[in-house]
Amino acid sequence: MKKLFALLLALVMCLTLVACGTAEEPASEGEAALTITEGVLTMGTNAAFPPYEFYDGEEIVGIDAEIAAALAEKLGMSLEIIDMDFSSIVTSVQTGKVDVGIAGMTVTEDRLENVNFTESYATGIQVVIVPEGSDITSVDDISTKLANGEQVLVGVQESTTGHIYAASSVEDGGYGEENVIAYTNGATAVEALNQGKVDCVIIDNEPAKAFVAANEGLKILDTEYVVEDYAIAVAKENSALLDALNTAMAELTEDGTIQNILDKYIPAE
Ligand code: GLN
Repeated sequence: MKKLFALLLALVMCLTLVACGTAEEPASEGEAALTITEGVLTMGTNAAFPPYEFYDGEEIVGIDAEIAAALAEKLGMSLEIIDMDFSSIVTSVQTGKVDVGIAGMTVTEDRLENVNFTESYATGIQVVIVPEGSDITSVDDISTKLANGEQVLVGVQESTTGHIYAASSVEDGGYGEENVIAYTNGATAVEALNQGKVDCVIIDNEPAKAFVAANEGLKILDTEYVVEDYAIAVAKENSALLDALNTAMAELTEDGTIQNILDKYIPAE
C-alpha cells in the first residue's frame, strides 16, 4: 500500500513538473521574439487624425491608442506610442523602429507588398471637405471644373489613400498630380483650406467630422463614398506578433471592448 502511494505521489510530481514546464516556456521565449523591446508594444502613429489619434495635452489619445492599450494588456505588455508623419509609418514598421503601425491605416494592395495587416477593426470612408458656400457641391464638380479649364486645388494628407486617389490620372478617376497639394497631416491640410490655399480637402470621414466641428465655415460634401478597411500594420517577418494580435483582437471583439472604444469616440448619429 505504502509503495503504491509513493508511486502515485511520484507520478503526480512528474505530471506537475511537465505541466509547469510547458506553461512557462512559450511565455518567456515567445515574448522575447514578439517585440523590439521585451514586454513593450511600440506603436507608430500620426497623432493629427482625430478621433483615431490626437493629443489631449501631452498625451496621445483616441480609438487607436485605446485599442492598442487593450491589445498590449492582453499580451501582458506595456504600450509606447511614437508620433511620426503618416508617410513614415510603413517604413518604420518594416525597419523595426516600431512593432506596429496603428493610424487609421487602410489596407491596400500596395502596402501589403511591404507589411502585413491584422484583421480589420474599423471602416473608413473618403470624403471631401469644402468651405461653406463653395461652388464645389459634389465630387463630380471637381472634375467638371478641371475639364472646363478652371483651377481647382485639392488638399490631401501625404501618402494616404486620399492622396493616391486624388493624384491619380483623370482616366483613373483622380484629378491629376498637378491639381493636388499634399500636406504632412490632416490638421495642416485643413489649415490650408481655412487659409484658401486649397479649394477642398479629401480625407477620411471621422477626422473630417472632427475638423469640421472644430473649424467654423467648413462642411462635408454628400459624395460618392470610397469605403475602406482599417487594420494594424506588422512587419512581414513577425508572423508571431501578427498571430498574437489577431488572437487578442478576436477576444476584444468578442467581449465588446473594441465596439465600446469605437462608440466612445464615434457617437451614433
Ligand atoms: N486611411 C487613410 C490611409 O490609410 C488615412 C490614414 C491617416 O491619415 N492616418 O491612407
